[in-house]
Amino acid sequence: MGLDIEAQVILCKCAKQHTFGIRVEKRGGDWYRTWAFKIDEKRAKREGFDRLNIQGSMNIDEAYPGCPYCGSKGFFQCECGKINCFKENEADNQWDVTCNWCGRRLTVQVASSFNMKAGGS
Ligand SMILES: [Zn+2]
Ligand SMILES: [Zn+2]
Repeated sequence: MGLDIEAQVILCKCAKQHTFGIRVEKRGGDWYRTWAFKIDEKRAKREGFDRLNIQGSMNIDEAYPGCPYCGSKGFFQCECGKINCFKENEADNQWDVTCNWCGRRLTVQVASSFNMKAGGS
């Protein structure tokens, strides 16, 4: 009680059938990723985690453990609006990736802020 923390959960996919939630917390005007946990996609949809609308800078809290499957702390947003694990193994800041949700191939530019508007279920 008395705590006034605005927190949300973003649904992210590491690979097919490997969904997890990223807990994000608002501090000032920015969002911080604080925790990640495995979650079944169906359950996440029931909880409404796939229907978020978050805007602003996205930072990583020191305690953020990364993806529960691959350990990556990065992610990218596909044109379909969904969030995917991003595996940071390249030196450049531009990569060719495949969306785990819709299968689209795209080149991502890693950004520190994003505009998230999820579609309906
Ligand atoms: Zn992952
Ligand atoms: Zn996609």
